[in-house]
Amino acid sequence: MPEKLLNYVAGAWCGSSAVSYLDVHNPATAETVARVPLSTPAEVNQAATAAMNAFDAWRRTPAPARIQYLFKLKALLEAYFDDLCRTITQENGKIVEEAAGELRRAIENVEVACGIPTLMLGDFSEDVARGVDEYMIRQPVGVAAIIAPFNFPGMIPFWYLPYALACGNTVVVKPSERCPMTMQKVFQLLDEAGFPKGVVNLINGSAETVNALLDHPAIAAITFVGSTATARHVYARASASGKRVQAQGGAKNPLIILPDADLRLTTSIVIDSAFGNAGQRCLAASLAITVGEADRIFTPALAEAAAARVVGYGLDAGVHMGPVITAQSRTRITGLIQRGLDEGARPVVDGRGLVVSGHEAGNFVGPTILADVRPGSTLATTEVFGPVLGLMHVDSVEDAIALVNSGEYGNMACIFTGSGAAARKFRYEAQAGNIGINIGVAAPMAFFPFSGWRSSFFGTLHAQGQHAVEFFTQTKVVVERWLGEWARKF
Ligand code: NAD
Repeated sequence: MPEKLLNYVAGAWCGSSAVSYLDVHNPATAETVARVPLSTPAEVNQAATAAMNAFDAWRRTPAPARIQYLFKLKALLEAYFDDLCRTITQENGKIVEEAAGELRRAIENVEVACGIPTLMLGDFSEDVARGVDEYMIRQPVGVAAIIAPFNFPGMIPFWYLPYALACGNTVVVKPSERCPMTMQKVFQLLDEAGFPKGVVNLINGSAETVNALLDHPAIAAITFVGSTATARHVYARASASGKRVQAQGGAKNPLIILPDADLRLTTSIVIDSAFGNAGQRCLAASLAITVGEADRIFTPALAEAAAARVVGYGLDAGVHMGPVITAQSRTRITGLIQRGLDEGARPVVDGRGLVVSGHEAGNFVGPTILADVRPGSTLATTEVFGPVLGLMHVDSVEDAIALVNSGEYGNMACIFTGSGAAARKFRYEAQAGNIGINIGVAAPMAFFPFSGWRSSFFGTLHAQGQHAVEFFTQTKVVVERWLGEWARKF
């Protein structure tokens, strides 16, 4: 019988009273690996209350003392690194090297948050009037809820969790119901690191659980990462009750390839971007726009590199790409490929119908490239979130940038070229929050802010680094005068 996952509330593991559980499947084998409870609003209330009760003592714990827990957490994440990577692969499907990449970024965020005594410094201005000083201090906001998607079960909660805690907030984490096992293990490490009871809480569930978090009066801040439709809902519902919210949404990332781009490097980077994590990455290349002669040069090279990718179980050696998350997801992706063909695209590599020997029940879709994707068509505008790259062609850099900026999303846009002037024009004009120049996955390091523009993001302050510090703190300005011997001089 697969393990029933637990919640972690007020420093204790607890079985859920939920009547509904979902099966968690290994997407490569279809094996049921765990059962996840759809926790009730009453359980959300317990977690939020535990976090609220722990807040006062935690915020009074000096920042240099708070980060000692993060140093312990970092050591534990390193010690259990391989085990966590295997869990990510087993529940998400990505290859174990990709799991290692996401976990490394998670740890880097812990490392950056350990600088909080400096990152959280205030400002002081002496003599704003005679004998009057003014200063700004940063204080934690209270209880924060962190709501995560399935595609980076190890990394995405860490865009927020270390900063929220380091700043003196307490947290409730809600992982994706499709990939909840990694956080179950991370919380064993948070428990071992010895955080005081109630400072970190874990609650499993899906939409009803999320809505209870969005509505809970004890929760002051919400971070969300997921699809645009849910991000819109989360942003509207949580901000309506006065919470501070940041909600990261979906993407449809275009890359421009100019004829002067390096053939070998560009081909390999574009293919890695489109098919890494089986295309289930918010920074995956989704459309490649070739300019002029680039179409003739790059299309055959991209086709050859895509067809050469080995698809299989992410724990097996020599595999380049794993399955997609669910059978429903595979059906949706193959349906979008067909729709693209029906709307006039040309098949260059068709990954439908792929069967992986030994893993016949897995949700595999092979790398797929469709050329002549028409502007405005379904494939040009819809987030596929699978291993599908659409090719479009234009005659000039100006047309390519206009095509990039015609999209609804703005998570990432990239250019491949040997021309500094073209790259600068692109960097200046592209409407996206993350820009790659001869880079295919422009993922900011932990000390830079991460988020998209337009329908890829709802909010103001972003994930990671100084932005996360600002999100998880509220500023207080003090204007101060002391009466007495010195002040009387004025
Ligand atoms: P999702 O929107 O289905 O789920 C995300 C979270 O929202 C989960 O915890 C889920 O339980 C909850 N949820 C789902 N439906 C809900 C509803 N109706 N009401 C309230 N809560 C609900 O997203 P997903 O499929 O897990 O993740 C994939 C999506 O996330 C893609 O669109 C991808 O582009 C996006 N994503 C964006 C970024 C980014 O930085 N912008 C990063 C990773 C993933």
